[in-house]
Amino acid sequence: MTVNMDSSGQQTGFAADVLLEPEHIEFRRHFRRFVSERLEPLALQGERDRQFPLEVYKELSKGGFLAPDYPEELGGGGGDILLGCVYYEELTRIPAGVSAGVFAHQHLAVRPLYELGSDAQKREYMVPALKAERIGAFALTEPDAGSDVQGIKTRARKDGAGGGDGWIISGSKVYITNGTIADYYILAARTSPERKSDAISLFLVDRNLKGVDASALDKLGNHSSSTALVSFNDVRVGAGQLLGEVGGGLSQLKATLSSGRVMQATRGLGIAQIAMEKTLKYAQEREAFNKKIGQFQGVAFKVAEMAARIEAARLMVYSAARDVISGKDSNRGASMGKFMTADAVIYATQQAVNLHGGYGYMEESGIPRLFRDGPESYIGEGTPEIQLRIIARQMGMHC
Ligand SMILES: Cc1cc2nc3c(=O)[nH]c(=O)nc-3n(C[C@H](O)[C@H](O)[C@H](O)COP(=O)(O)OP(=O)(O)OC[C@H]3O[C@@H](n4cnc5c(N)ncnc54)[C@H](O)[C@@H]3O)c2cc1C
Repeated sequence: MTVNMDSSGQQTGFAADVLLEPEHIEFRRHFRRFVSERLEPLALQGERDRQFPLEVYKELSKGGFLAPDYPEELGGGGGDILLGCVYYEELTRIPAGVSAGVFAHQHLAVRPLYELGSDAQKREYMVPALKAERIGAFALTEPDAGSDVQGIKTRARKDGAGGGDGWIISGSKVYITNGTIADYYILAARTSPERKSDAISLFLVDRNLKGVDASALDKLGNHSSSTALVSFNDVRVGAGQLLGEVGGGLSQLKATLSSGRVMQATRGLGIAQIAMEKTLKYAQEREAFNKKIGQFQGVAFKVAEMAARIEAARLMVYSAARDVISGKDSNRGASMGKFMTADAVIYATQQAVNLHGGYGYMEESGIPRLFRDGPESYIGEGTPEIQLRIIARQMGMHC
């Protein structure tokens, strides 16, 4: 066996481990085994059923792996964002729909409550969500506005009925992970018609309210996750469902979104890493022209290039995570890391199909699933072009 690869062909140590503490590395070792033994069978069943396997949460809870990056006093594991990075990369070694669902719940639908929630909202939503007794979804994207978040049209108007101080919400959200299984949505809506940053507010909306309708969407990959179109038709919510400030907009979510970009990137690393490991193993076993195909430089160099691209991306992502921990501006580094991860995912999954030959086209090899699941990891939390836009703007180019 080669450096850092175990006898089953799994890579056990990475260049980026210099940026981790020993407890992160120890966590990876335990969690990897747990994911493969306890979660992978559920994820594979979810792929066949085309739905998120909710038993994943029971298993995560039994294993003590629910909310590892939340404080212990809230029932979390007490870990930092680097632990979250290791967690999501390892969780994405199995069909990526599962980590998509867990990430949308544990990060996107819980972190804003942790950052902005009132005591009552924390009690009613965050505490049960951290135990996975209530599942959440994050509803921002709309049919006519994704990257351009200022363009959202969903409206929340003051509800004058009975002199109340609640809200009436109308609009549609699309591509919402956990959309059909969530108990509540964290929803971004326009509280003022002008296109300006203080026109958007956040609300907590229960799925069982009158006027809420969620329908599953058919999609390329991530079959073990729920992705939905969710419509809100004159949905009435009380004043206590406003999360944060009226007009506080998405700037209130800065911490959630910038740490989210880093952790979302690690989901892509998980997919690219598995594609590389499977291809390395295949190159060492498959023979052509009386040689292992890995003995042809044309093959070996491509596997080496997969590894180099993945390790480089991981270094950037972990480095951005360290900036988050130390309170430095992580915006540029997070975008660069997420952009480089997209490059690694595209290269690794494409070459995995190519280097497995006809077998790489067969479901049985597990490679088509990686090829299908890859794009969600870089479309979510900002496409590669949006990452370049952030980087360019930080460099003074106002594109
Ligand atoms: C499986 C899946 C799950 C998702 N889950 C969620 C979820 O849980 N919650 C949620 O709110 N959203 C979710 N999304 C939505 C996702 O965040 C958006 O799809 C993404 O932000 C892109 O927005 P869009 O689809 O509207 O594409 P658009 O913004 O219309 O972009 C189309 C193309 O134009 C490019 N583009 C746009 N603007 C620029 C620019 N200024 N410069 C250069 N290029 C540009 C984009 O990069 C892209 O290539 C999910 C998406 C998928 C596929």
